[in-house]
Amino acid sequence: MDATIEIMFRLGIAVAVFAVMAAWEVLAPRRPLSASRLSRWPSNFGIVVVDALLVRLIVPTAVVGAALYAAGHGIGLFHWLNLRLSVAAVAGFLILDLVIYAQHVLFHHVPWLWRLHRMHHADLDIDVSTGLRFHPFEILISLAIKIAAVMTFGIPPIAVIVFEVVLNATSQFNHANVRMPFGLDRIVRLLVVTPDMHRVHHSVERAEHNSNFGFNLPWWDRLFGTYRREPAAGHDGMTIGLPLFRDRRELRLDRLLTQPFRNERTK
Ligand SMILES: [Zn+2]
Ligand SMILES: [Zn+2]
Repeated sequence: MDATIEIMFRLGIAVAVFAVMAAWEVLAPRRPLSASRLSRWPSNFGIVVVDALLVRLIVPTAVVGAALYAAGHGIGLFHWLNLRLSVAAVAGFLILDLVIYAQHVLFHHVPWLWRLHRMHHADLDIDVSTGLRFHPFEILISLAIKIAAVMTFGIPPIAVIVFEVVLNATSQFNHANVRMPFGLDRIVRLLVVTPDMHRVHHSVERAEHNSNFGFNLPWWDRLFGTYRREPAAGHDGMTIGLPLFRDRRELRLDRLLTQPFRNERTK
């Protein structure tokens, strides 16, 4: 697939998912927002623009480029095993999802990685825009990890494109501040991480934000014992964010970028 077509395709789906989730948030919100959209969305989308520009600048071909290179040169375990494309694609998708889960656990437990990742957690609310709010350095490290996985296993380009599209869509979905009938949530969360499941991960309580690491498939959390069904204070009573960054000024774009490098509560 031509790189421009690929970008337009991914962007088109991302915008469509955003429109659906944003409308759902207006029609059936799960919790009242503690900070207005106006105070959060410009910064959260500002980060998306910074991330996109940086990635285009530093790794213009991104992960799909690595997959095309691996396919063209027969690099990676799947090529050596002569796996059929369909098998390699499904296995590749699952491996990428497990890698993202493991990376997320790592970002919580390695102190300097947590400094980068905690910007995602410092948002005072969790909604569709939070699902896109990651520090540019975290995005670059994540890109390097995904490229390493793609080259090691020889994950097919089609699996990479599908994975990136699905991950973007599920991240917007599971961060969205949307109300879903309880019974439906219980069924959906067997297949994909739901907003009620991921919201636990944004709790101000350390034990709660160190659970539910999955972004896409919910199975890894159950498999590795990091699954937590709901927050202790309930979804209406829980506090979102981190104790360190509760000042409203921390919602500004420049503050988001410098959060990894600060220790103190700013005045
Ligand atoms: Zn996290
Ligand atoms: Zn999150």
